[in-house]
Amino acid sequence: MTRFVQTGPSLRDPYTADPQLRGWLDRLLGEDGHAAAKHRLSDLSAEVIGPLRAAHHDAETHPPALTRFDAWGERIERVDTSAGWQAQRAAAARHGVVALPYLPEARDTWGPGARVVQQALLHLWGPESATFSCPVAMADGAAALLTQTGAQPGWLARLIATDPAVAITSGQWMTESQGGSDIGRSTTAAHPDGAGGWALTGDKWFCSAIDSAMAVALARPEGAGAGSRHLVPFLVPRYGADGRSPAPGLQVLRLKDKLGTRAVPTGEVRLDGVPAFPLTDPAQPGLAAMMTLVVVTRLHNAAAAAGGMRRGLEYALAYAAERTVAGGLLADNPLHRATLGALAVDAAGAFALAAHSFALLGRAEHGDAAAAAELRLAAPLAKLTTGRLAVASASEYLECFGGAGYVEDTGIPRLLRDAQVLPIWEGTTNVLSVDVLRALGSGDGARPLLLRLTAAADAATHRLPGVAEALAAATARLAADIATAAADPRDPRVAAGARELALRLGHALTAALLLEHAAWAAERGDERPALLASLWILRRLGHADISADLHAGFDQLINAA
Ligand SMILES: Cc1cc2nc3c(=O)[nH]c(=O)nc-3n(C[C@H](O)[C@H](O)[C@H](O)COP(=O)(O)OP(=O)(O)OC[C@H]3O[C@@H](n4cnc5c(N)ncnc54)[C@H](O)[C@@H]3O)c2cc1C
Repeated sequence: MTRFVQTGPSLRDPYTADPQLRGWLDRLLGEDGHAAAKHRLSDLSAEVIGPLRAAHHDAETHPPALTRFDAWGERIERVDTSAGWQAQRAAAARHGVVALPYLPEARDTWGPGARVVQQALLHLWGPESATFSCPVAMADGAAALLTQTGAQPGWLARLIATDPAVAITSGQWMTESQGGSDIGRSTTAAHPDGAGGWALTGDKWFCSAIDSAMAVALARPEGAGAGSRHLVPFLVPRYGADGRSPAPGLQVLRLKDKLGTRAVPTGEVRLDGVPAFPLTDPAQPGLAAMMTLVVVTRLHNAAAAAGGMRRGLEYALAYAAERTVAGGLLADNPLHRATLGALAVDAAGAFALAAHSFALLGRAEHGDAAAAAELRLAAPLAKLTTGRLAVASASEYLECFGGAGYVEDTGIPRLLRDAQVLPIWEGTTNVLSVDVLRALGSGDGARPLLLRLTAAADAATHRLPGVAEALAAATARLAADIATAAADPRDPRVAAGARELALRLGHALTAALLLEHAAWAAERGDERPALLASLWILRRLGHADISADLHAGFDQLINAA
C-alpha cells in the first residue's frame, strides 16, 4: 500500500519574499537608505530560514525551568533556558535588533529612519525568535528610558551592545496581582537603604524574561502621593555581585504556566529590600517618564503582530501551493484564494500601522514635535488594532491547514497561542481604548489623524474615486464621533463606545497609510498597492463583501508592494 504523506510548508527567504516590506523601505528610507540596509536585512533573513528556525523550535520545545534552592538549601532562583533561547539571545545582539536606533553609525546613515530599519529587522526575525522579541522589546524600552533620563549609562551601554558576550536584556516589572491595568494601586514601596541608596519591597505578578540581567520596576517612594502619577521607575539588578546568584532579597516565586510564549520565562517575583537605582528623581512623579518605555514596548507589540501575520500568510501560501482539494491545488481554489486574500489584506494593514509608528517614533526621538504629537494617538491605535487583527488572523491560519493546524508538532498551533498575548500585555484593547479617549480629549489630539485622513482621501479622488469617497465618509463620521467623545469623555455612553471608536480610528488610519503608499507606488507605475488599499477600505471601512475581488486580484495582492 502506498501511503500518502503531505509535504509540509517550506519557508521562503522572508526578506526577498515580502514585496510590501521592500516597497515601504524604498519609500520611507529612500532607495539609497534601503540599499544601505540590505546587507543587514539579507543576513538576518538567511539566518531566520536556517539556524534561527532550528533555535526557535528548540526553545519552543524546551521550556525554561526554575530551580529555587540548591542541594544544600541555599536560595539560587536559577532559571535554566534552552540552547535555542541562548542562540536567539546571541542573534538579537549580533543583528542589533535593540541596538540599531542607538548606534551612531546607524543614526548617521538613516537618521530617524534607523527605527524603520529596526522594525524591518523585527518583522523578519520576530516570528522565528521563540518570542525572544519580548525581552528585546523591554530592553529597547529600558534603553529609551535610560537615554531620555541620562541615568545609569553603564547599564545603557550593555543594553545596546552588539557583542553577545556583553549585551543584556531587561525585564519590566509593573503588574501586581491586584491590578495590571490599574497600576495606581501598586503597593511596591521604595525606601532609602540607610547607605544613600534605595531598596524595593513588594510583589510583582508578571515578570517576563526573568532571566534578564536587570528590570525596570515601578515603585512608590516613601512619602510619595497615592495614584499612578507618583510611581517612579527603578532599575533593579536581577543578579548579585557574582552575576549568578540572585540579587539580595529577590525571590522568583514561580514561573507562569502560560497558554503561549512558552519559551519566555515569566515569573512572579518577591522583592524584600532589593537594591535598586531610581531612574528619575524619586521626589517627583515618575510615571510620565515610564511612558517612554511603554510606548516603545507597545510599538514592538505592533511589530510582533504584523510580523506574525505576514509569517502566518507565508506558511499558509506555501501549504496552499502543496495541498490538493477537490481535484486541484488549494492555491487555485476560488474560495481558498478569497480566504488567503483577505488575510493578505489584513497583514498588509497591520504592517502599515507598525511601520508608520516606528517611523513616527524615530522622528519624535529626533526632536520632531509634530511626529511626537501624532504618535500619542498612533501608538495605542497601532497596538490595539494590530493585536486584534493578529488574533483573528492566527485563527484563520490554523484553519488554512485543516486538522494539521491543530496538531502541535506541525508548529502551527503556536501561531494562535502566541498571538493571543498581543492584545493583553502592555494594555488590553479596552485599556488602550481608554488611552485613545484620553488622547482625543487632550487639546487637539485628533487633529494630526484627521488631517492625514482628509489628505489621503483628497489625493485618491481622481485615481480611486469610490474608495476616496468611502474614506471621506468614514472620516466625516469619525470627526463627529470624536467631537462627541472629546466633549465629555466621562459620559458612560462615550466610555462604553471607546473600543469601537478606537478600532474604527485604527482602521481608518490604516486606510490612509495604505493609500499614501499606493500613491507613491502608482507614480512608479505600480498599481498593486492601490488594489490592496482599495480592498482594505472596502473590507474594513465599508464592511463590503469583496470575495470576488480577492479571488480575481489574488496574485496581485500577494505580490503587492
Ligand atoms: C504572557 C504575559 C506576559 C506578561 N509580561 C509582563 C511583564 O513582563 N511585566 C508586566 O508588568 N506585566 C506583564 N504582563 C501583565 C500584563 O501587562 C497584564 O496582564 C495586563 O496589563 C492586564 O492586567 P491584569 O492582568 O491585571 O488585568 P486587569 O487589569 O484586571 O483586566 C481585566 C479586564 O478588565 C479590563 N479593564 C481593565 N481596566 C479597564 C478600564 N479602565 N476600562 C475598561 N476595561 C478595563 C481589561 O480590558 C480586562 O479585560 C504579562 C501578561 C502576559 C499574559
